[in-house]
Amino acid sequence: MNTFERALSHQLEQQRSTGHYRQRRSQSDAGVHTRIDGRAMLTFCSNDYLGLATHPRVVEAMCEGARRYGTGGGASHLVNGHQQIHDRLEARLAQWTGHERALLFSSGYKANLGVISALMPRSGHVIHDRLNHASLLDGTRLSGARLHRFDHASFSSAEQILARLAPASDRLLVSDGVFSMDGDCADVDALAALARRHEVPLMIDDAHGLGVLGTHGAGTLEAQNVAPAEVPILVGTLGKALGTQGAFVAGSHTLIETLIQFARPFIYTTSLSPALTAATLASLDIVQTEPERRAHLHHLIRRFRRELSTLALPGITLMPSETPIQPLLIGDEHKAMALSARLRDEGVLCTAIRPPTVPPGTSRLRVTLSAAHTETDLDQLLSALEHGCRALTP
Ligand code: PMP
Repeated sequence: MNTFERALSHQLEQQRSTGHYRQRRSQSDAGVHTRIDGRAMLTFCSNDYLGLATHPRVVEAMCEGARRYGTGGGASHLVNGHQQIHDRLEARLAQWTGHERALLFSSGYKANLGVISALMPRSGHVIHDRLNHASLLDGTRLSGARLHRFDHASFSSAEQILARLAPASDRLLVSDGVFSMDGDCADVDALAALARRHEVPLMIDDAHGLGVLGTHGAGTLEAQNVAPAEVPILVGTLGKALGTQGAFVAGSHTLIETLIQFARPFIYTTSLSPALTAATLASLDIVQTEPERRAHLHHLIRRFRRELSTLALPGITLMPSETPIQPLLIGDEHKAMALSARLRDEGVLCTAIRPPTVPPGTSRLRVTLSAAHTETDLDQLLSALEHGCRALTP
């Protein structure tokens, strides 16, 4: 083994010894009913909240899109990877979210890197909720701006940070719309008021709210009755409720032109696949015209919470959330892993989330519900949880 390989092996050994070694499991089917190592599994950890990733119309649109425009973009958007179908999707996304324009990115991670690094100089300050997604933190690191974190959902903590910063400095206030590991929603109205008072632009990453919350599925802002203009920078992803892949930023014409000029994760990467773009247009149609999917999902969320409270299972705490993300707080990471393994034995797939993704002592099962689940699927989850919790409690 050469020196390079030895150093890597040492690092991997260390990762193993902390118990944080990450494992992938290969599935052999898509959707909530899948297979792992030949065993049937019912999935409760996907972000495909409306079950659109396998919807026949979305799949057909992707095939048709591939036949017409090709599978891959072939180049970046600024070379020759930009097609009219991208313009069509951008216009639809802008209209849906109530903004002047939208810009596609090939992932939410890149969108967040792109926005923050394009807007913030090294001398700037980015003020984050402590539970913001890793991509928002990494975007801040890429920009070189100073990273500030306020206590989760604490406006007084955010206010204290803002009050210390010079009003003339470049500042940006950033929050998830729905927190990805907790499932709770930011109070966007309160954040917007804070942003207005301190004359700071507000950026909301609504990756987990779009498609799921609000009468028309337009996300956390629609659910909370917040006007789009209150949030000048909105990020949405396409790989969750929309069931495809990629992301977009919605905002003013000036914001979008700025990103096209300066967002390196937009400029220096292959354009979003045109086939995926076609699929996303089809899934957006479904999101906008079939509210019954959201209604079914929210019914399942309410039923899950109600029945789990009645069961009062030992060793788990249902966290407060009205979204499809319904985390079960366990605390100890080994216990979280053990419960996840018990569920797997019962044919239910729900991965444990551990540090560093969540703070130490807050390991959990991140249960996610989908409109693709049936009442019977939910029965199976509740029964597997009941067996697992009782078996693991002395
Ligand atoms: N923002 C949030 C809040 C997320 O949860 C995620 C993905 N888990 C992303 C951004 C990144 O999106 P993508 O998977 O499209 O890169």
